[in-house]
Parts: sequence; C-alpha cells; structure tokens
Amino acid sequence: AKCEGGSGFSFYKPVMNERVLETLELEGALRLAVERHEFCLHYQPKVDLTSGRIVGCEALLRWRHPQRGLVAPAEFIPLAEETGLIVPIGAWALKEACRQTRAWVSEGLPPVSIAVNISARQFRKGDLPQLVREVIQESGIDPRLLMLELTESILMTNPLGAVSVMETLKTFGVGLSLDDFGTGYSSLAYLSRYPFDQLKIDRSFVNDIVTDSNSATIATSIIALAQRMGLRTVAEGVETEAQLGYLRKNGCDEMQGYLVSRPLAAGDFARFLRENNGV
Ligand code: C2E
Ligand code: CA
Ligand code: CA
Ligand code: CA
Repeated sequence: AKCEGGSGFSFYKPVMNERVLETLELEGALRLAVERHEFCLHYQPKVDLTSGRIVGCEALLRWRHPQRGLVAPAEFIPLAEETGLIVPIGAWALKEACRQTRAWVSEGLPPVSIAVNISARQFRKGDLPQLVREVIQESGIDPRLLMLELTESILMTNPLGAVSVMETLKTFGVGLSLDDFGTGYSSLAYLSRYPFDQLKIDRSFVNDIVTDSNSATIATSIIALAQRMGLRTVAEGVETEAQLGYLRKNGCDEMQGYLVSRPLAAGDFARFLRENNGV
C-alpha cells in the first residue's frame, strides 16, 4: 500500500524571504492533496499497564507528498487549521480510521479501540456529531471502539457549546479523551465539567517524570485525581523503562510511546498486534 515503508519525514524549511512563497506553495499542495488522496494514517499501539496487552491505537495523519516524501503533521496541520482544510482532512481521517478498524475485525484480529484526533476547527463546525454518526454507520464498527481525542483549546473557545456536542457524542457510545493534558492552560476544572472518559498525560510531561521531582509530583497527583473521577489515564511519549516503571507504580492505566512502538503503517500494526496479543 501507499503508506507502507519508511517513516523518515522530510521537512519544509522556509528561509526568511521564501516564507510567504513556501506557505502559498504548501497551501496549494495541501488543497490538491485532499483531492489526490495523498494522506494516510499510521497507528501507534496503546498498551494496558495491568495486562501488558495492546488495547488500542492512535491514528496519526501522514502526508505522502509526491516530491517531498512523508511529511509530518506538525508541518501542515497548523496551516490546515488556519485555512479550514483540516475539516475535509479530518473527516477523511475519521472515515479511514473506522474503515481500517472494521477491516481488521473482519480479518479476525482482536478488536482494539481506535483513537482519532479532532481539531478545534473541526469540532466547532457543528456537524461533527452527524459526521461521527455517519462514519459509525458506514463502517459498521462497534462505537465503543472509537475514541475521540480533544484538546483544551476546543473547550476554551466555546465551553457551553462544547458540553452539548460532547454529550451528543456520548449518546452514540464513543469515548472522549482529553489530549495533551499538562500543557498550555490545563485546568482540573475541565475534568469535572466535561464528559471525558480518558485523560492523556502529555509527552513533554512524561519526559521529565524521572528527572524532575516537581513533574513527578504533578504527574502522580493528576493520576490520583483522574482515578477518583473515574477517568482512565494514558501516558504518551513513553521512551524509557524508568518512565514506564514510575507510571506503573503510580497507577497509570495505559501508555503509548517509542518504548513499545512508533506509529506503524496499517499492515505493520496488524502484524504487531498478532505477534503481541497472541492470535
Ligand atoms: P499528539 O496527538 O499529541 O500525538 C502524539 C505525537 O507524539 C505523535 O506525533 C507521535 O508520533 C508522537 N510520539 C508518540 N510516542 C512518542 C515518543 O515516545 N517519543 C516522541 N518523541 N514522540 C512520540 P505525530 O504523529 O507527528 O503527530 C503530531 C501531532 O499532530 C499530534 O500530536 C496531533 O496533535 C496532530 N495530529 C496527528 N494526526 C492528526 C489528525 O488526524 N487530526 C488532527 N487534527 N491532528 C492530528
Ligand atoms: Ca492525540
Ligand atoms: Ca497527545
Ligand atoms: Ca502531545
């Protein structure tokens, strides 16, 4: 398939006077990319820290640029957000993730949950619930397998609107995850006010837990609080055994990170799941 193979990224590196041109070129290319189906998804395993089994994955967007090769989301998502192109791109990602999940189940793989990132712009568009409902119907997946990852920026721009959209989504049976917790404006109030099922502790944070005692204290408190509120905690960007040990000792529920696996092309993820979950 188009998305298999190396995961080495190429980068847009605009020089000062070339920046405007580069941005225009990038925007044009991004527009065409939607029509030309140049996007694909890679899947990063999520591991349950109690059972040691793979219980899910996160779908991460990749752009196969015809000249530049695989382009990382950090290189184009900000512009996609700005131009509104994230709406069709995000809709494609949601559809593709559910189609792939259904295909895996049909192949006899053990069902695992699939997490899809939802951008603020996409969330605000208003018809997100309708899109989610359609995608679940079309793909025929168990809605409980779908987890939507939302960031705090979504909650800040329209708190009341966000609650009602989230409550509608919950009625479909999908899970809601608060992504990148520990960065930016993180507020514990979000956890009580919104119907989240899961909280993801940001990588920048996980990175420091064994070297910085303040980060460690905060991480421990977040996990304890989340537990009391009935939320599952997922640590992202776990790279070392020491980080894993600390998280496990403090009751974190799940992890994802290079320690277990980088994001994988669909075929590689299926193989990884077979090999590790023993089917
Ligand atoms: P994110 O949602 O926080 O996703 C986790 C990022 O951390 C991914 O980067 C993943 O490859 C990377 N990562 C995972 N484990 C490790 C680790 O152990 N060490 C290090 N250094 N990195 C690790 P990626 O795939 O480049 O995605 C970057 C961001 O782009 C995502 O951050 C997310 O905000 C955004 N993104 C990706 N796909 C989508 C999408 O379909 N829609 C939207 N709206 N945003 C997306
Ligand atoms: Ca995410
Ligand atoms: Ca994240
Ligand atoms: Ca992050």
